[in-house]
Amino acid sequence: MESQNHYDVIIIGSGAGGGTLAYHLASSGKRILLLERGDYVPREKDNWNSRAVNTEGKYNTKESWRDKDGKELHPHTNYYVGGNTKFYGAALFRLRKEDFGGIRHHGGVSPAWPISYDTLEPYYLKAEQLYHVHGLRGEDPTEPPASAPYPHPPVSHEPRMQQLHDDFQRLGLRPFHVPLGVQLDEKNRHASKCIRCATCDGFPCLVYAKSDAQVLCVDPALAYPNVSLVTNALVKRLETDDSGREVTRVVVERHGETATFSGSIVVVSCGAINSAALLLRSANEKHPRGLANGSDVVGRHYMGHVNSVLMAISKCPNPTVFQKSLAVNDFYFGSKDWEYPMGHISFVGKLDGDALRGGAPALVPGWTLDQMGKHSLDFWLTSEDLPDPNNRVTLDRSGNIVLSYTPNNDEGHKRLIEKLKGLMKQQTKCGVHGHECHEGLFSRNLYAGQRIPLAGVAHQNGTIRFGRDPKTSALDTNCKAHEVDNLYVVDGSFFPSSAAVNPALTIMANALRVGDQLLERLK
Ligand SMILES: Cc1cc2nc3c(=O)[nH]c(=O)nc-3n(C[C@H](O)[C@H](O)[C@H](O)COP(=O)(O)OP(=O)(O)OC[C@H]3O[C@@H](n4cnc5c(N)ncnc54)[C@H](O)[C@@H]3O)c2cc1C
Ligand code: SF4
Repeated sequence: MESQNHYDVIIIGSGAGGGTLAYHLASSGKRILLLERGDYVPREKDNWNSRAVNTEGKYNTKESWRDKDGKELHPHTNYYVGGNTKFYGAALFRLRKEDFGGIRHHGGVSPAWPISYDTLEPYYLKAEQLYHVHGLRGEDPTEPPASAPYPHPPVSHEPRMQQLHDDFQRLGLRPFHVPLGVQLDEKNRHASKCIRCATCDGFPCLVYAKSDAQVLCVDPALAYPNVSLVTNALVKRLETDDSGREVTRVVVERHGETATFSGSIVVVSCGAINSAALLLRSANEKHPRGLANGSDVVGRHYMGHVNSVLMAISKCPNPTVFQKSLAVNDFYFGSKDWEYPMGHISFVGKLDGDALRGGAPALVPGWTLDQMGKHSLDFWLTSEDLPDPNNRVTLDRSGNIVLSYTPNNDEGHKRLIEKLKGLMKQQTKCGVHGHECHEGLFSRNLYAGQRIPLAGVAHQNGTIRFGRDPKTSALDTNCKAHEVDNLYVVDGSFFPSSAAVNPALTIMANALRVGDQLLERLK
């Protein structure tokens, strides 16, 4: 088929998966079309305004979904060029080598991936280079083997974080610098793109110094004449030929009008929840349960991590500006007193009174939210949730998203919180307040008032899993649909298990790996 609306490759969604893939394919000379339901994030002062971003949720989608009980939920997700990487904290971790094998947890088994860590390693390296990751190999006790150093030195700790690092080290832990995708040059601050500010995690970067998929992949890809982008293009359905083996039409709604496109290869990368919804919406005679869903796994095994934000409040202020520099993985696989994995300890961006008003924690007696924000260390704890077929994305009668989720495997997470409590009680005595300086550890429900499970949807993955067996997976090991010859998926959907570190680098690395397969196929 040859027409103006025909492309060699159509990529749906321009985030971590789709944006990275577009960049990788751009230099091939093939006609590539990127379809993105959102627009560019407007560049305006509100990008860095905590009230606009956190309290008012200015950039969040206004879409509403339903949970398993039919209650409305407002997903904490963003539809823009660059996807959620415009807002992410840019902590760019590799999964652990062990995460690719089966791991026994207290709540069950985290299944093995159909590819090994070694298969993905060269792509992790490329993704770290592409996304300017700053880090230091050899510090993180669980870190997997890497074939080269990080491309940039680690982001330094500010004094309060350094003190915490030293305290943790004194207690026998091996704290390390978070690998971060911020284009910070600490040796030449005057020339550095990144100004090291407090409004990074959860905010778009006003000066384009965050390593997001728009700035580093979509924009450079669009410099090639063979690559085009259509924004505000909501893909509603994929249609196949009569055999059901080939996607022939991509049906788009744009400003209330319908448009159609066709591609020799169609790549879905809408984020794990929307990609599953798109395949389910694309059911037809040959695919009655949803496109590529003979296995009935599409939409199932939704994972989003067991996450908590915990604020450790001290009488002394925490003047840290960029807080997301420190992490601890000593309990990732367990400890001497608990044989099962617990997870990962790190930080969110520094919370302030406005951020706290967006999901108010219980007030510490005698403190206002503003004071709490000025005195807190704001921990982010991540544990692995396991793939449960009943945790799933479905559609209601009008085609809207229903997200059913029952938390699992939370015993390890509770123990991780206890570990952190124990560590915080043993902090260095403060010169002014002594041991009384530490007031305690308080949880902040990030999504209070939004009726969404605490896990939220920021780390969504697992809904279109890849695997060798078409009976138990929708995608093959190259992320091509088992049942459709020209359909691929490259967002977080393909994860068979979620591990307990942030997902974006793995999505980017996998998109580069799939990109190599596509380049081979397009030759
Ligand atoms: C506040 C926040 C902080 C985070 N911090 C981190 C972090 O520090 N480290 C980390 O690794 N991860 C982090 N994440 C998660 C990370 O952003 C995601 O894992 C990653 O962006 C997922 O990539 P993706 O390609 O699967 O989807 P996305 O990046 O979400 O991209 C999907 C794209 O598809 C578009 N789309 C959806 N449906 C359609 C449709 N029907 N038609 C056309 N387009 C469509 C969307 O608009 C979007 O642009 C964070 C997320 C959030 C929200
Ligand atoms: S300037 Fe640096 S710290 Fe601030 S938002 Fe941009 S990348 Fe993040």
